[in-house]
Amino acid sequence: MIVLNDLTKIYTPNKYTQITAIQNINLQVNQGEMVLLKGASGSGKSTILSLIAGLSKPTSGEVIVHDQHISKLPDDFASTFRQTYIGFIFQKYNLIPNLTVQENILLPLVPQNLETNEAKALLHEVMTHFKIEHKKDEMVKNLSGGEQQRVAIARSQINHPKIVIADEPTANLDKALSLHFIDTLKELKSQGKTIIVATHDPLFFNLDFCDRTIELSNGEIIS
Ligand code: ADP
Ligand code: MG
Repeated sequence: MIVLNDLTKIYTPNKYTQITAIQNINLQVNQGEMVLLKGASGSGKSTILSLIAGLSKPTSGEVIVHDQHISKLPDDFASTFRQTYIGFIFQKYNLIPNLTVQENILLPLVPQNLETNEAKALLHEVMTHFKIEHKKDEMVKNLSGGEQQRVAIARSQINHPKIVIADEPTANLDKALSLHFIDTLKELKSQGKTIIVATHDPLFFNLDFCDRTIELSNGEIIS
C-alpha cells in the first residue's frame, strides 16, 4: 500500500522564490490498484510521482510505501528501495541513446551487484517478453519509437517491481503506440501490480481496468 499523509512540496529555486508544487495531499493507493493522476500541466503530477518513488523529499508530510517511510530514508536507502519496489517509466523514456538495448535495460540492476548469470536471466526474460531481444546489441538511438517504448517498458520491469509508475507515458506517441502501451498496463495490472499513471491523454479516461481517477489542480486534489 502507498500512503501519502499531508504531503507538501515547496521548491525554492532561489532565495527570493518559493513555488508550492503540491499542498496537503492525502491519498492511499492499495496494492493491485490502478490509479490515474489527471490534471493540467503544472498541477503537481510529476512532483507526486517523484515523491512516491523516493526521487525527491517532501517539504512536509510523509510517504509510506509497503510500510517504509520513504520520505525519511537517506538517499542511498531510498535508491535501494526504488530498485526493489518501483518500475518507473519516464516521459520521453529517459533512455541513453549511445548505449545498447541491453545496456539500457540493465541499468536499474547496476546498484544491486547481481551475479552475472542472474542478471542475464532477468534480462533475457524481459527482452523476450517485450519483444526486443532481436535488437539487444543495437544502440537505442537507432531504434524506432515503438522499439524505444518496448525498451523503456522492459527496463521498468527487469526488477519485477510491485509498483509501476508512469509519467505522461504517451505524451509523444502516436495513437497506435499509445494503445499498445495501455494494453501493456492492463497486462501488468492483471499480474497484481499497483499502477499509477500521470496523464492528461484522453485515451486513458474510462479504461475498464482503471480503478480510480484523482484530479489535481494547482497542487491540490479537487476530485
Ligand atoms: P505536472 O507534472 O502536473 O506538470 P509538476 O509537478 O512538474 O506538474 O510541477 C508543479 C509545479 O512545480 C509547477 O509550477 C512547476 O513549475 C513547479 N516545479 C516542478 N519542478 C520544479 C523544480 N525542480 N524547481 C522549481 N519548480 C518546479
Ligand atoms: Mg509532469
